Amino acid sequence: MADWQPGDLALCVRAGAFRCSSRQLHTGKSRDTPRRGFVGKVIATTIPPLNDGSDCKCGCVLLIFEGGEKGVSPRFVKVTPPKADEFDKEVISLMTTNPSKVEA
Ligand SMILES: [Zn+2]
Repeated sequence: MADWQPGDLALCVRAGAFRCSSRQLHTGKSRDTPRRGFVGKVIATTIPPLNDGSDCKCGCVLLIFEGGEKGVSPRFVKVTPPKADEFDKEVISLMTTNPSKVEA
């Protein structure tokens, strides 16, 4: 199982109901479950709740995305961006250092 961390990019590759490796049924019926093809940035991970409010003990991780979407880890694969080239490094440097001050 992938070791998910906040900041990871995830691609949704599985939609709808499925049983994970622990035979737990994940219905995917929640309104905030992403569709296949969704790409999002993980902001937090937690244990998936069951319908009765208790914690699911199947071993899946619930990924919470910055847009409020949530999904269990087997629905996703990690997306690893290519390493930054010289242009990327320059843009990143401009965006992360010496912010310009603008009078409001
Ligand atoms: Zn599971």
